[in-house]
Amino acid sequence: MTLYRKYRPKQFSDIVGRDSITKILTEELKSGRIAHAYLFSGTRGTGKTSIARILAKSLNCSNRDKETSEPCNECDSCIAINEARSQDLIEIDAASNRRIDEIRELREQVKYVPANATYKVYIIDEVHMLTTEAFNALLKTLEEPPSHAIFVLATTELQKIPETIFSRCQHFSFGKLTFVQIIERLKYIISQEKISVDDTVIEEIARRAGGSSRDAESLLGQVLSIGKDKISVEDASLFLPKVGFSRVMSWIQFLAKNDAKSALESLTKLENEGINLEFFLQEALEISRQLMLYMVVQDDEALGLYFSKDEIIEVQNLCQSSSVGQMRQIVIQLLRSNQDMKLSPDLPILPIELAVVELCSEVRVQSSELRVEKKEEKIRIADSAHEETRETQNVASVRRDDSADKREEVSSPVSDPQILTNTIKEEVKKSDQVSQAEQKSHSLKEILDGWGEVMTKIKDKNGALNFVLGVAQPVAVNGDSLELGFKYRLQQEKVSEMKNREIVETVIHEVYGSRYRIEPTLCQDMESIKKSDNIEGSPKLNKEEDALVEAALEVFEGAVVEN
Ligand SMILES: [Zn+2]
Repeated sequence: MTLYRKYRPKQFSDIVGRDSITKILTEELKSGRIAHAYLFSGTRGTGKTSIARILAKSLNCSNRDKETSEPCNECDSCIAINEARSQDLIEIDAASNRRIDEIRELREQVKYVPANATYKVYIIDEVHMLTTEAFNALLKTLEEPPSHAIFVLATTELQKIPETIFSRCQHFSFGKLTFVQIIERLKYIISQEKISVDDTVIEEIARRAGGSSRDAESLLGQVLSIGKDKISVEDASLFLPKVGFSRVMSWIQFLAKNDAKSALESLTKLENEGINLEFFLQEALEISRQLMLYMVVQDDEALGLYFSKDEIIEVQNLCQSSSVGQMRQIVIQLLRSNQDMKLSPDLPILPIELAVVELCSEVRVQSSELRVEKKEEKIRIADSAHEETRETQNVASVRRDDSADKREEVSSPVSDPQILTNTIKEEVKKSDQVSQAEQKSHSLKEILDGWGEVMTKIKDKNGALNFVLGVAQPVAVNGDSLELGFKYRLQQEKVSEMKNREIVETVIHEVYGSRYRIEPTLCQDMESIKKSDNIEGSPKLNKEEDALVEAALEVFEGAVVEN
């Protein structure tokens, strides 16, 4: 039996981190003022169905505790529910029963009084999956429910619930569980299983669970399946291919201190140890994201969702010695590396190395002398990276031989270290040009580097606007004005509209930290601009896409950005 089932909470007091919800429900049970329809929304694995079942048990328990409203878990009704064979608790998975026929059938059955209890409780999981017709049929039932029927609708996507349904329900929101709450739950299970598990392992499981108790328990189950009485970090590494907080954190510290040498060295070391760099990068991305958010909102509680007490101290220390702008750059660069990694599967270390070099050379140095010095230092680093890559290459080829019998991996040639060094030097040169830009203003390259983020943010605010803006490209920066090139007048005019212009300018301010006035202009010859500037990462636009966009715009004409 899975841990999740074995330790499924049997009464309200077993539930971790849902105090306010259980308190309201027990008060309702005590007073007898039960709602006929509840809506539980929130992340998966956070206790929605567990609470729904306990509610059903309490409603029908013949020995319910008058003081606490807890079910007895001993009467016939409670046992039937615990054994999942109660006729009066009906659980429906809307993902596989989403059609109107199934809801019609439900409506027929609702009329009949409960077989052995006071209430018939219907739990409809993933209720957002119902078709519109099925929702309408369900609504009719919710409008006039028989007095014996209680509905608990559960969903992970609240926004898909029609307002008509929502307004009929008592709504409870199930947020993600905190790091501490998940650890509490894991420790309880571990003590029940009479096994000792290293604290670091427990913390890593909690972090990976992303606020879901079910995911945490499932992962713990895998780790416990090792079958030892005492589980160490090493034992668990099979299931937790983690680099560990401290290594990722010290790497981010190197970046924050612009210590390219140490950052590159530790990357090589990680690779030599056979650490999956893709995984490492995702860890680094997530942690630096948390750092950035903390710097902006200073929310200690939010940190508790993700880090342990000791880790929080380290996080706060780093936040004090770094700036939001710097952390934002780290996040942006790591995000780029994460995308670029897909383009260089044979040399996963390269995109991260580029991020290191880019980040550590982005310090704006006032004195040109200092700049020259720094440049030389960077080249030295690039040369030493060259040496390291030679070493890595040797180690890597040895490792390949070793693992040849284990994995049938197509051995790919390791790229020429000289190319790597040249790329790094090139990057240094580029970012050196960048550093000559004025403090507040950005170079076109910097604007283009962040443009992906601008597009993502605009997509969140207005999908149609993202679509229109997707065919444009920043073509020039003049002081505080940012010229956007459009190939077609229709799109240019759309973006020029006050409402849309405001959205774009606000997002640009959020992303770059500086205010720019956008100048949507018509560029008849977008293709040649893109070819001549030869800037990596600029939005790709080919003839086919062009034609597609044009056709789509014709269809949407007039309504494109009007929502
Ligand atoms: Zn009972």
